[in-house]
Amino acid sequence: MPLVSMKSILDKAKSDSYAVLATNMLSLEMILGGIAAAEDLSAPLILQLAPVQFNTTPLEIFGPLMINAAKKSSVPIAVHLDHGTKMTDIYKAIELGFTSVMFDGSSLSMEENSKITKQISNYAHLHGVTVEAEIGYIGNENEKYDTSEEKYRMTQPEDVVDFVNKTNCDALAVAIGNAHGLYTDRPNLQFNLLSNINKVSTIPLVLHGGSGTDSEDLKLCVKNGINKVNLASEIHHDYVKQANNQVFKDYPDMSMKLIEITKQTVGKYIKVLGSAGKAK
Ligand SMILES: [Zn+2]
Repeated sequence: MPLVSMKSILDKAKSDSYAVLATNMLSLEMILGGIAAAEDLSAPLILQLAPVQFNTTPLEIFGPLMINAAKKSSVPIAVHLDHGTKMTDIYKAIELGFTSVMFDGSSLSMEENSKITKQISNYAHLHGVTVEAEIGYIGNENEKYDTSEEKYRMTQPEDVVDFVNKTNCDALAVAIGNAHGLYTDRPNLQFNLLSNINKVSTIPLVLHGGSGTDSEDLKLCVKNGINKVNLASEIHHDYVKQANNQVFKDYPDMSMKLIEITKQTVGKYIKVLGSAGKAK
């Protein structure tokens, strides 16, 4: 079944009201563990790579690894470039065979963001590649939303229709009080805002910064229209924490244990998001 477009996974999630886990892969063991969890639970999965990780997982080496692993899997898997900001990375990912790319133009003006997103959609769609875009601003864990500052704008429902019509993007990342990294306080997610965005959006919505979000809050996000949850920091943190508590006999033993650690965490979130059993 294997490597599929992200659009095919997310459109099904939207019509059936569940969300698919998308997580950033930092090692071969993470890829194998993530796919093993998805296969065990018969769930779709999204493997991602972000430019911020290219130092240790170079796009041209790690991308094909994820793509080939997806091709061998028995469940639908999309391979996605997360937070692409440079055109060169986006075009390279498409050339390598990624089935989805994100253009993050959230730091640009709405007009500039629309213009570039549209350009990427035109090119990506010619290659059957999905496009995720973002409007509003998703901060980092150490930032606090201050709505008096222009930078910290949340996604506004009135902008969504216009942006999607103009750009023809396939999925939209929203800013509803979520942030990247590990939260120090429980995030104050704006479910009413999310519900209002969902009422006007014709395309699947994406929650970034899923790490550290209470399972009940994640379920509420899904109920209010989220179909893709980006959750990486917590999986990485858990991986290191559990690995630190292990004694490895030799390298194969280490690999097997690291695969199992990822399998457990990824499996936990597949269940929370309601995508178990949705591979068919
Ligand atoms: Zn993100």
